Amino acid sequence: MTSKYIPADRLTAWLDELAASNRVLVPVRDNAAVAFQPYTGGDQELVLDTQATTPPKGSVFPASEPLMTFEYRKDEENPGKVDVAVQPTMEAAPTVVFGCRPCDARGFTIFDRVYNTDGMRDHYYAARRKNTSFVSLVCKETASSCFCHWVGEGPADTRGSDVLATPVGQGYVLEPITEQGKALVESKTLDNATQEQLDATAQVKQDARDSLGDAVDVSEAQEALLRLFDDMEFWQDVSAKCISCGACTYLCPTCYCFNITDESCGNQGFRIRSWDNCMSYLFTLEGSGHNPRPTKAHRLKNRVGHKFSYYPGLHEGLIACCGCGRCIKSCPVSVDIREIVLRAMETATAETKAS
Ligand code: SF4
Ligand code: SF4
Repeated sequence: MTSKYIPADRLTAWLDELAASNRVLVPVRDNAAVAFQPYTGGDQELVLDTQATTPPKGSVFPASEPLMTFEYRKDEENPGKVDVAVQPTMEAAPTVVFGCRPCDARGFTIFDRVYNTDGMRDHYYAARRKNTSFVSLVCKETASSCFCHWVGEGPADTRGSDVLATPVGQGYVLEPITEQGKALVESKTLDNATQEQLDATAQVKQDARDSLGDAVDVSEAQEALLRLFDDMEFWQDVSAKCISCGACTYLCPTCYCFNITDESCGNQGFRIRSWDNCMSYLFTLEGSGHNPRPTKAHRLKNRVGHKFSYYPGLHEGLIACCGCGRCIKSCPVSVDIREIVLRAMETATAETKAS
């Protein structure tokens, strides 16, 4: 597929074109954060030189969405009988997410194995996933919290992206990855990339990968975390400073848990799905009052174990973390998932040697 080039000062012309037939989401400043919001035109200042504070997870899996409306209808001829009329609600407007990072787009490939398979299809998720395209930006500069290379990725990973945009000179080389991406770059606003620009792209990608340094081998993490499952002393120690705020889950591009609630007024209402947070005590509180994860140590064990052990155990070794580092950057007390995984591997190895 032919790669295209667009100078930075013509970028909004292309976004305007995309916005004519799509909802376009772009990273913009939102108070102290950078978040994906609807593109409103050339006056908007896009933030493309840094990773957004929040991932574009909500483009496909909104933080809160109505799943259906319901209405109770009383049968006047038979007062003991009440029918419920249910109407599914689903919004899946064609959407282009521009300026996310490769790890953000890759996050949806973790979702896909849970919500979009032949055996289990979440139709709300699947419809939006189908209608959403990702134009990901190669990370020219990486942050100290980035560790995508530990989990088998890199700053120019293409999995989950439809177009990979690489900053080159005063513009971007746009490399279509999928058929959807090919359609996005078929535009008179874009020029074909020159060989010189393509060569520069390869160098930018290599420099970005080199800036991360050597990857740490976490292939032993799956077994190590299972071995430490009942070692609550270990989990109490690594979770000691956690304040259970849930920032790590809400900002994670691969956390997919939700809760369902009904909101009604009179005889009508909505059934709403909202993101949930496994770091909260309430997440596993059962109706009986029993809570199988009663302490933050149990909850952090589940969060780390899910990403580096249980999910990989079910999905051919695939780690359910894309190494974006947001949980590290945003944790108010500096809990670092990398340190926990490394410590788990060291502890399990030491225990194995001692036994
Ligand atoms: S962001 Fe930090 S303090 Fe908050 S729940 Fe996650 S690990 Fe705990
Ligand atoms: S666990 Fe942390 S580093 Fe991994 S994908 Fe989630 S927020 Fe990013």
